[in-house]
Amino acid sequence: VDHAGTPPSPPPSPTNTKATASRSPKTAFQVQNLQFKDTLGEGSYSSVVRARDRVTKKTYAVKIMDKQYLRRRKKTQTAIAEREALAKLTKEGHPGVIKMYWAYQDQQSLYFVLELASNGELKALLSKWGSLNLPCARYYTAQIVDAVQWMHSKGVIHRDMKPENVLLDPDMRVKITDFGTAKVLDPDAADDRATTWVGTAQYLSPELLISKYACKSSDLWAIGCILYQCIAGDFAFHGPTEYLTMQRIRALEYTIPEWFDPAARDLVEKLLILDPQERIGAGPSTSSNPPAALRAHPFFESIAWGTLWTDAPPLIE
Ligand code: ATP
Repeated sequence: VDHAGTPPSPPPSPTNTKATASRSPKTAFQVQNLQFKDTLGEGSYSSVVRARDRVTKKTYAVKIMDKQYLRRRKKTQTAIAEREALAKLTKEGHPGVIKMYWAYQDQQSLYFVLELASNGELKALLSKWGSLNLPCARYYTAQIVDAVQWMHSKGVIHRDMKPENVLLDPDMRVKITDFGTAKVLDPDAADDRATTWVGTAQYLSPELLISKYACKSSDLWAIGCILYQCIAGDFAFHGPTEYLTMQRIRALEYTIPEWFDPAARDLVEKLLILDPQERIGAGPSTSSNPPAALRAHPFFESIAWGTLWTDAPPLIE
């Protein structure tokens, strides 16, 4: 991910906004009703700002991208692809994936009006606590698995799964965001590979480093890295430089602390496998390694998958 350059400026005054919002007549979204509040986060090519609809009183997260900035950094296509992935996923809908309610633009910027995840990033939780207790690590990993497998079933590969992109809603449930690097697969394509080199060093999969392609299973690799980090409190793969981190990934050079929960260790070892096809749950549903194999792993034995999104989350402390 390219982090160079200055992020776009704060939102414009809504009065200047000439919107071309895609709206449904029932909800009658009016751009001029949005009151922009504080900045929720900055991405490499966007600002995300809290906004409140003064009529409906609903609050959103609005992702704002400066068009000129996108053009200069050759990211216009990325923004279009993100919109495409978000629109597709929102139409189908999953509790663990951020919804995009509207997209509009004015002369200066593109705006994605998103569901607000008011409890911030999983990364912040990990920074605050160092690591998570086992029930929390299990719960958050299970929600990530459920959301990612659903996304895969809809033909979308995320390709940049990391704790920064796992947001938490007011009920402390997972909401996956940032589809700027996602790939919507062609349903008629023979295989599920997508070829662009994207990602964040610590969570990059070996296939992306070696053959420059990502597949659904690359997201499973990243889940293995996230689970490791939730429990160990450290990256699975981390070197003094990005290059050395990548060397470690290619060599599958990581160590699991001795005190690690045995079932979690087994799952990490079954996700962090160099051959993407061998990762647990990577195969098509007809194979001996279907996506369900991942859910059936003993680490998730106590997870009630049917009520995963309505059960209360475990206590963090
Ligand atoms: P990246 O540099 O990772 O590609 P980006 O430009 O694609 O970033 P996002 O990752 O989508 O931007 O958003 C940047 C940050 O804004 C997030 O990491 C998060 O902290 C915050 N954010 C994004 N979407 C939401 C949301 N729906 N609710 C609350 N906060 C959000």
